[in-house]
Amino acid sequence: MAVLILGGTSEARSVAAGLDECGVSIVSSLAGRVQRPRLPVGAVRIGGFGGIAKMADYLHDEQIDAVIDATHPFAATISDNAVAACAHAGVKLLRLQRPSWASHPDASRWHWVERHEDAATTAAARGTRILLTTGRQPLPAFVESLRDAHVLARMVDPPQIAIPKRWIVLLDRGPYTYGGEQQLMREHRCEVLVTKDSGGSHTQAKLDAARDLHVEVVIVRRPAWDGADRFTLTESVDAAVSWIVAAI
Ligand code: NAP
Repeated sequence: MAVLILGGTSEARSVAAGLDECGVSIVSSLAGRVQRPRLPVGAVRIGGFGGIAKMADYLHDEQIDAVIDATHPFAATISDNAVAACAHAGVKLLRLQRPSWASHPDASRWHWVERHEDAATTAAARGTRILLTTGRQPLPAFVESLRDAHVLARMVDPPQIAIPKRWIVLLDRGPYTYGGEQQLMREHRCEVLVTKDSGGSHTQAKLDAARDLHVEVVIVRRPAWDGADRFTLTESVDAAVSWIVAAI
């Protein structure tokens, strides 16, 4: 059995390790966005497929039997493409998506918004000292509303846009600790934390630190799904491995 893992997340690396241990033939696919990606065990391909039809061709040519979409919850295009390409190629699709933070005990106190632009205006109305943790790609959505704010913008790779002069860019990648997040928020005298609902435990410490320091949280909801009836959903790496092993 050959399995394609759409990756770029810690869960994707864990599921690759789990399947490799079970002797399943795997290839992990990365978009190629970050300069120094953390690589999973096993074979890796890097770069876009070139759209739905080309992904379907790849599944056919490489004789892929099943796809695990373990991409980030905000990587909506590749997930939608996987649904369409797997349907076209007649390949089973499992989506492995980490649990949302909507069930976090503090979630009802946060300011939930639909879009990054809304997060920017909401944050601007709540304070002038902002910790922005939505990553590099959505940065343009924040520039206008937060141009004069003191923004500490954390991301993995340097920004590709001009950053307002009061902003500080912090290049870093998780996982983060509760103590480290508290220290960062204290040093920056943070009033507002802006995040997206990435979910899971890898970057959750900032939410607990924000609660204990009375920092307001503005959070962007996950994008909606296409074709939820055309894939199996799981939130756990072990369940994803078991699903594949049962299908062999
Ligand atoms: P996206 O908007 O959903 O995808 C845009 C295009 O990038 C896709 O159409 C596809 O190109 C290519 N692509 C994305 N993921 C790919 C993969 N795993 N393998 C091969 N091609 C891929 O994705 P994104 O939000 O830019 O995220 C890119 C990658 O970074 C994802 O793999 C995701 O897991 C990871 N990541 C994203 C975030 C985030 O916040 N968005 C956070 C952490 C990690 P083609 O159409 O040419 O096939």
